[in-house]
Amino acid sequence: TQDQKESMFLVSKFAAEWMQSQLKTEMGKAIGYSYFKERGFTDETIQYFQLGYSPDQWSAFTDAAIKAGYQLEFLEKTGLTIVKEQKQFDRFKGRVMFPIRSLSGRVLGFGGRILTNEKKAAKYLNSPQSDIYDKSKVLYGIYEAKQSIAKEDLCYLVEGYTDVIQLHQAGVKNVVSSSGTALTKEQIRLIQRLTKNITVLYDGDAAGMRAAIRGIDLILEAGLNVRICTFPEGEDPDSFAKAHTQTEIEDFLKANSVDFISFKSNLLKQEAAGDPIKKAEMIRDIVQSIAKVPDDISREIYVRESAAILDIGEDVLFSSLAQNRNAGI
Ligand code: ATP
Ligand code: MN
Ligand code: MN
Ligand code: MN
Repeated sequence: TQDQKESMFLVSKFAAEWMQSQLKTEMGKAIGYSYFKERGFTDETIQYFQLGYSPDQWSAFTDAAIKAGYQLEFLEKTGLTIVKEQKQFDRFKGRVMFPIRSLSGRVLGFGGRILTNEKKAAKYLNSPQSDIYDKSKVLYGIYEAKQSIAKEDLCYLVEGYTDVIQLHQAGVKNVVSSSGTALTKEQIRLIQRLTKNITVLYDGDAAGMRAAIRGIDLILEAGLNVRICTFPEGEDPDSFAKAHTQTEIEDFLKANSVDFISFKSNLLKQEAAGDPIKKAEMIRDIVQSIAKVPDDISREIYVRESAAILDIGEDVLFSSLAQNRNAGI
């Protein structure tokens, strides 16, 4: 019910504030705050994104919440507390915390990162699905980015929390993250309210490349313009932004963003390298992507562009496109 949801919002707000306050305790300062500092985040940034720390004790947060009058029912429903054999445990114990906010700024859920790079536990842990948190419908950073996205008429889409934060701190503020989940239609719809232009900035690794390719078709289907910017091997927007100035970052983004036709064609050139079977596969792949574009004129422009880059006849592409669209509809 609405009352229950409201209680979940309230307990989430309390959690964000309490975990934020933990950065000031002796332990939280030594562990959580210094972690963020090492990542290069300023005090202002830590404050702005309401970053926090969940102490490495079994139920420090849960105890504090109950003492402050919040009911266990809602602590459990939001996933902040795990109840097992009538004992209570903090889900995010020992993690630095990234509150995930709605477009209007309400805390919906959290991402929590372990402090070490050991592979003992999942690097990031997120709130479970609940009545207020649906990971397929939220974008990390949307509240902080919405004005810049509208103003720049462009949204940068990155993979992780720290990519959003680091770019933002560097002055590139029109950026959001799907935070580890494959991009969804609902997330695109959220961006669509603010701009028609998305540039995907995924990590310079195999996972990032796969995620970018998957995201492209969904964005095209929504009728938006998509560009892709790949980072040097082993870099992500966070590491890149940390090591460069705002101008350098903006220049890099400008110089390396390509439309999806160029992106896929370049992949083709590398992968197919003289192999006609692979080339044919790749052309089919590109045509399938173009077929998803709802607007007739855009489709035609894309066909002409890819024919030129791939060095094949436009008529071949147009007839292949017609087959695809008939099959798809
Ligand atoms: P960091 O810089 O803190 O090491 P990252 O953001 O660069 O993290 P990646 O490994 O590139 O992390 O993963 C991208 C995103 O995928 C993360 O920001 C996080 O949202 C999500 N993710 C990564 N590992 C996990 C995991 N084990 N469980 C759930 N989500 C994860
Ligand atoms: Mn990665
Ligand atoms: Mn990354
Ligand atoms: Mn990273």
